[in-house]
Amino acid sequence: MHYYTYNRDPIGFIDKAAMEQVFREGYENGLDILERGEGKVADYIPALAKADPKDFAICGMLINGDIIAQGDIDRRFSIQSISKVINLAVALRTYGVDEVFRHVMMEPSGDEFNSIIKLDTKNSLPFNPLINAGAIEVASMLVEKYTFEEMLQFARELCMDPSIELDEEVYRSEFETGNRNRAIAYLLQSKGVLLADPQKTVDLYFKMCSLSVSAKSLAGLGLVLACDGMNPFSRESLIRPGYVRCIKSIMFTCGLYDYSGEFGVDVGIPAKSGVGGGIMCAARVPMGIGLWGPALDEHGNSIASVRALEHISHRLHLHVFDYR
Ligand code: GLN
Repeated sequence: MHYYTYNRDPIGFIDKAAMEQVFREGYENGLDILERGEGKVADYIPALAKADPKDFAICGMLINGDIIAQGDIDRRFSIQSISKVINLAVALRTYGVDEVFRHVMMEPSGDEFNSIIKLDTKNSLPFNPLINAGAIEVASMLVEKYTFEEMLQFARELCMDPSIELDEEVYRSEFETGNRNRAIAYLLQSKGVLLADPQKTVDLYFKMCSLSVSAKSLAGLGLVLACDGMNPFSRESLIRPGYVRCIKSIMFTCGLYDYSGEFGVDVGIPAKSGVGGGIMCAARVPMGIGLWGPALDEHGNSIASVRALEHISHRLHLHVFDYR
């Protein structure tokens, strides 16, 4: 089987063995950095603090069902901020682009994911749906419309993984330590922009952050986005291509917190990270790539995963602006 990476340069066509080799090298680059003890696991809740910083897995998923695996791609961890993409997809499907972006902007913030400063001093609307304030605003559009069970079902469909469940322990801790997110919700309410009750809204937000996924489920979500919203196996259309274009654009500009600019230049793949150590990528092969390494860099992104993606993207020419 040959995969066409859209390039006409010598590695435009690449066979599976060559692709596996590139993934293996990327994985080793990531392991090297972990061996040196770089990166720190998130410690704001016990469930994340007890993660092993040496864990690392990468899963590539292709449209013919081929899987490229390095490490334990079935190990479960909490999805955290990557759920913001699922919430956005459901909101777009429900309300369309114009209505969603009447309530949240689509600009990179350049601030940390849970920052409140500009929201308080500069703008009434949150900067984008992939930072906490924006995701909480999006959750306020969904909470009266869908039950959590329905949202969970959407997540399972979009990740092509029927085994996704709520991790109760993570949810309880998110709930207990989530005062900053509550502050964001009340600030949005005080500005008259939150569309539902703050407590109910953050509860949905916390639950969505607490879904347990694997590197493989993230690869599944990445693949659906890479296929413009279609499940390539059932050929069912899950999200309209126009909405997917919008989601991938925002992932490209805002998906890795305040590292999104550098990641965009260096790696150049629409991606979203979470503090659980996951990164979900929609590569144009089309291929979904799910990575998990709980040791994070100073921006809150999985340090080994970013390092591996640099290599994989360069070698396979996955940058969206690579010459063709
Ligand atoms: N649960 C985390 C929070 O809301 C998720 C943030 C993240 O993954 N960046 O703060």
